[in-house]
Amino acid sequence: MSKKQFTTHHGMVDILPGESEKWVYLESVIRDVAKSFHFDEIRTPILEQTELIARGVGQLTDIVSKEMFTFSRGDDNYVLRPECTAPVARAFVEHRLDQRGGIQKLFYIGPMFRAERPQKGRQRQFHQFGAEILGSSNPAADVEIIQFMMAVYDKIGIKNATLQLNSVGDPSCRLAYKNALQDYFRPHLDELSEISKTRFDKNPMRILDSKEEEDQPLLEYAPLISDFLSDECRTHFDTVKHYLDNLGINYTLNPRLVRGLDYYTRTAFELTSTDLGSQDALGGGGRYDLLIEEIGGPKTPAVGFASGMERLFIACDALGIEMPVTSIPDVYIVTRGAKAQEWAVKTLGLLRHQGKSATMDLGGRSIKAQLKDANRSNAKWCIIVGETELETSMFTLRNMKESTENQYPLNEIFELIQ
Ligand code: AMP
Repeated sequence: MSKKQFTTHHGMVDILPGESEKWVYLESVIRDVAKSFHFDEIRTPILEQTELIARGVGQLTDIVSKEMFTFSRGDDNYVLRPECTAPVARAFVEHRLDQRGGIQKLFYIGPMFRAERPQKGRQRQFHQFGAEILGSSNPAADVEIIQFMMAVYDKIGIKNATLQLNSVGDPSCRLAYKNALQDYFRPHLDELSEISKTRFDKNPMRILDSKEEEDQPLLEYAPLISDFLSDECRTHFDTVKHYLDNLGINYTLNPRLVRGLDYYTRTAFELTSTDLGSQDALGGGGRYDLLIEEIGGPKTPAVGFASGMERLFIACDALGIEMPVTSIPDVYIVTRGAKAQEWAVKTLGLLRHQGKSATMDLGGRSIKAQLKDANRSNAKWCIIVGETELETSMFTLRNMKESTENQYPLNEIFELIQ
């Protein structure tokens, strides 16, 4: 019988050593930004109830209609979470976080799952970081969310991304807009793509999102939401823009940017980069004042963003941005013989106790191979120990960068490597 070679599922990727250090670094940047904006972390389960995602993300979306990984067990229907806003909203309602006092400012980092056709920048398991402010209708909250997102890219060194901004209004302005869109598209229904035809009745705003070629000429002259905003929505949007201007955050107004769901309200934004290819969105978000009520909670205005981590790395590669790699050992102990190994096990314990990153060979290799391994790991120091060193209690300390070495007693070595 031939041996079966197992692989990851299509569109799911192992993050291997050499790569994983970049992830740790990015996560540390996100946590630093979260700290400076005073956001708390929330970690929700990977599995949610299918019904929550169907209602929370919206039945008409691609995510719910064709991209969910679902299964049932007994009476329960599980879905691998495709995004984290609905789960965070669920946790907010379930744990009555509104009663924790104050406005909730939460961030998350983690894997999401969508059964999409894999391509560059599009996987079936991918990772997002994101943040949500729950309980505030203040335009300053919208700006804080945008600023949080931008701060991460800024710290990583991605400075050429474009922030696209729009206001999609609220249900009152959208009713008139929806009618205007339907009046505009109705005489041209035959010319629209199949997917846009299906959106015409229930959600004509999503036609504006269309990437289908046959829709493009019609989109060009479609009515704009900006002409339908109520006074309240317009004032909100003007304040958001004014605050962004004050902060020196550049944006491009894109009246065709819609977050397709009914509970999205007012501010909508997307960060795009020409370094990404066809999947050009680094992240996006907006205000969703109606979602929490939609999933059974109290009326709670909220705003948030989600960003793809894989796409951030793709942009870094395109721009030649290198992330600091942190997995370099301070000390590598090279041993010859069983006694030396016993000594090394004990000494590694002491070094680690002092906060040093310390390692040794676990493969019983020759001194030469161990030194090669120490070199490859970029260790700063090597302690070389064999029978003679143990007898004299004088150990060889090698400075790997300068290729110099000398003999010292252990207490001096501890001082030298500080
Ligand atoms: P969304 O939740 O669809 O607004 O997506 C937010 C961000 O997540 C996008 O801008 C992408 O950066 C990222 N993203 C969404 N879907 C995928 C995917 N299938 N693979 C990789 N990244 C994704």
